[in-house]
Formats: sequence, structure tokens, C-alpha cells
Amino acid sequence: MSEGFENIGKAILHTDQNGMISLQCNKCKSRFKLEGDYLDDLRGDIFCPICGISSDLSYFYPEEVTHAAMEITKAHAEEMIYKAFNKMNSKYLKVNTPKVTAVDKTIDFKDKNINMEIVHQACCNKDLSILPIDIISSYYCPYCGRIVK
Ligand SMILES: [Zn+2]
Ligand SMILES: [Zn+2]
Repeated sequence: MSEGFENIGKAILHTDQNGMISLQCNKCKSRFKLEGDYLDDLRGDIFCPICGISSDLSYFYPEEVTHAAMEITKAHAEEMIYKAFNKMNSKYLKVNTPKVTAVDKTIDFKDKNINMEIVHQACCNKDLSILPIDIISSYYCPYCGRIVK
């Protein structure tokens, strides 16, 4: 992932009314929410509460965020190429570049995780939102990776 993608992807992540941010594991596709404040200055990895895989935040962008970030990154690249070619359009060189359509940079996502429950992680003194069905079985603390039963 490029740094540009990372920045844009992070900008699209929104907190819900409880200050939680929706994430989705890239491996098992489970959705969960972590504290927005924690993710804001995250250093290191987080853990998928369902399958336990650990990775950096960009691995847990929900698919709709990944898709939008890629669209925006692509549009930015096209815009840069367009501008670069326009500068080169001197009397020596004629290049026809297609007009770039501006992308909507303020994409908002509907909260898809309405049925989630907030559970407190005593080990890290932080909250996690997951589906009730995932609480029934044991799961991993997304902050430290410990198994919670
Ligand atoms: Zn997972
Ligand atoms: Zn923990």
C-alpha cells in the first residue's frame, strides 16, 4: 500500500456515536469496531478479534473504504499526469490528455454494524464492538491479542 492510500483510507474512517471506528478483517472478513482515539495514534499492529491475525491498520479497512480510497488515489494520479502533460504542452509537444473528472473527496459511509454490542476489554481497559454471535465463543482482544473467554 502506498502512503497516499494509507492517508486517504484513514481519512475515510469515521467514528460512530460512541467514538468507535468500523473495521473489517481482510482475512476472515469479520467486522468489528475499535476506539477511534486509540486508532488515531496507533503504533504497531492490531488483532482481529475473530481469527486473531495481527497487522497494521490498513489491513483492517472495511472493503467499502478500501474501494473508495483506491478510487481517490487513482483519480489523484490521473490528475497529476494530466497537469504534468499540460505543462509539457509547449510549441514542441502537443499531447491530448482526457479531462479528469473531479472525485468526491467527502465520501460518507452508512454504519453497517447496527447490531453490534460494546464489550469492555479489561486487559487493555478499552472497548470493542462485535456482533453478539462472536461474543458467545471466545475471541481475541484486538488491542493486545489475548484470548478472551
Ligand atoms: Zn479475522
Ligand atoms: Zn487486551
